[in-house]
Amino acid sequence: MNVPAMQRLIAELQQSGISDERVLGAIAAVDRERFVTPAFSERAWENTALPISFGQTISQPLVVAAMTEALRVGPRMKVLEIGTGSGYQAAILAKLARRVYTIERFKPLSREAEKRLIDLGIFNVVFDIGDGSKGWPAQAPFDRIIVTAAAEERPQALIDQLAMGGILIVPVGRDPTAQVVERIVKSERGLQRDTLMPVRFVPLVPGALPELGQG
Ligand code: SAH
Repeated sequence: MNVPAMQRLIAELQQSGISDERVLGAIAAVDRERFVTPAFSERAWENTALPISFGQTISQPLVVAAMTEALRVGPRMKVLEIGTGSGYQAAILAKLARRVYTIERFKPLSREAEKRLIDLGIFNVVFDIGDGSKGWPAQAPFDRIIVTAAAEERPQALIDQLAMGGILIVPVGRDPTAQVVERIVKSERGLQRDTLMPVRFVPLVPGALPELGQG
């Protein structure tokens, strides 16, 4: 791992207001270089989103850090992620939680992510291929749910699969220039909602991909 570049990124995240030591520790421990395409490996520790396969992106480290911090993940928690992509966010969550469930609609992305995590010695992530906007009913309820693609509307199926006291982090917005990350907290008194920051995510696309299912 390129330690000086990693340390520069951690310092930049701290300057940008990320203070949770567990989150910063997880980002420092997961070599981002392993998750980007080789053509971009020199830029792996830059605070920018980078392209992965199928026109998707690995999110900007500051966005990963801020969303993960807002998720307030504890070591005994069961976490659901929608949008496995490269597997980077799942790897970060795996350092913080007991078990992570992650859903991706592109089978080859999911398979590559699974291989990466095993190579890194991360074994507490369970992968599924399909439409994550429906959640993972068989494994519900989840203590925490994070969506790493932009939903047009707040996904009700995911809210339904949150445990009492659970937190959902989801970028919401139809217009890519006007998305905001929302945090929804489920309590006995109902849902409490606040917005965290403006973002640009690839869209959460409903429906699985049968034509790529053999990939
Ligand atoms: N978390 C990823 C980045 C996510 S990019 C990382 O750390 O690298 C968003 C991902 O969401 C893409 O891979 C895209 O294919 C996936 N996606 C979009 N809509 C989806 C859906 N309905 N169900 C599951 N995955 C979806």
